[in-house]
Amino acid sequence: MNKKKFETRVIHDGQVPEKEFGSVSKPIYQTSTFKQEEFGEYIYDYSRAGNPTRTDLETNIASLEEGLGAVMFGSGLAAISAIFTMLKSGDHIISNYNVYGGTFRLIDKVLLKMGIQVSWVDTSSIEEVEQALVNNTKMILIETPTNPMMQLTDIAAVSEFAKTNNILSVIDNTFMSPYCQRPLNLDIDLVVHSTTKYINGHSDVIGGVVVTKNQSLLEELHFIQMSVGAVPGPFDCWLTQRAIKTLALRMKAHNNNAMAIANELERNSKVDKVYYPGLKSHPQHELAANQQLDPDGKPAFGGMISIDLLSSEKASKFVKNLDLFILAESLGGVESLVCHPASMTHASIPEDVRKKIGLSDGLVRLSVGVEHLDDLLEDIKSALKSL
Ligand code: PLP
Repeated sequence: MNKKKFETRVIHDGQVPEKEFGSVSKPIYQTSTFKQEEFGEYIYDYSRAGNPTRTDLETNIASLEEGLGAVMFGSGLAAISAIFTMLKSGDHIISNYNVYGGTFRLIDKVLLKMGIQVSWVDTSSIEEVEQALVNNTKMILIETPTNPMMQLTDIAAVSEFAKTNNILSVIDNTFMSPYCQRPLNLDIDLVVHSTTKYINGHSDVIGGVVVTKNQSLLEELHFIQMSVGAVPGPFDCWLTQRAIKTLALRMKAHNNNAMAIANELERNSKVDKVYYPGLKSHPQHELAANQQLDPDGKPAFGGMISIDLLSSEKASKFVKNLDLFILAESLGGVESLVCHPASMTHASIPEDVRKKIGLSDGLVRLSVGVEHLDDLLEDIKSALKSL
């Protein structure tokens, strides 16, 4: 186990200065292939199979998630797809029906066609999870908190269920980042991230990663990475590595800003509902305070908030009147973003499913950035005043 603190590991792990010239910022190995001295004598042979810049990033992220190894992919969805290629036709998975819209679409439109079966359940209820178990269940996939309803699943309960029934447990940890939640320590088998979000944090690179503590799963993932080939380029890996150095600093600012904004939103009469696990009014606040922990073990509630403004018209007016929050897909960047899940990120989810999970047309999702809190509060208050 690496003994250094998280704030040190983001900067140093996988980042030993380069030998030839001592360059402190490591060079980008922007190459597709490598010279071999003899037949079969090499460290790297071809950049789809492996590349030093990618290895450095994988070493770093594995350390942050406290895993044995990490495997990078060209996007979060490529990473999730790679996990699904561990399955075969006839296998069954259990998943939360409130997963990211793209994950829902991947299962619904691609996996089902390939003969993989799914049960969509509310994984916040371990009883529902248990009821969904069938003979051919091979995997359970959760997101906690969910996007955008901020509903939690008890990670320890899910990993115990998976171990008892000999199935793979997978968690999409994108919303939390390894700063706020490290599920491998709760015995989850595979942690996946869209590194596009908090890990890269600058809204300029698409990427994904899978992390595990299990040697044979790690080998299988490396095999899939090389065989399927959805790999990120060296420059994208380098940019992501550069950004990770400030992950701890950024997450502290995201968490502090979001907590203060959630409190303000809860006080504001123009807002019908606020979904933020840091609020005492959140039905799973206690679970959040126990499983969402920063590296010092203090509760960490993240930078994502959803609010219900009761109608699409009000949501649209609110968004138009914001000045700093930019209307855009994605989340987890230094700049504050706002999105309307029903017409944007979650448009691929059927309307009846959206209704069932409470994702109304008046729902607005905020990705709180790291700007000065006073400016963000002012922006939100004046946009709400216009309603
Ligand atoms: N998982 C979550 C929770 C997401 O929010 C997203 C994208 O928004 C993804 C996965 C997919 O990641 P990417 O866009 O990098 O493919």
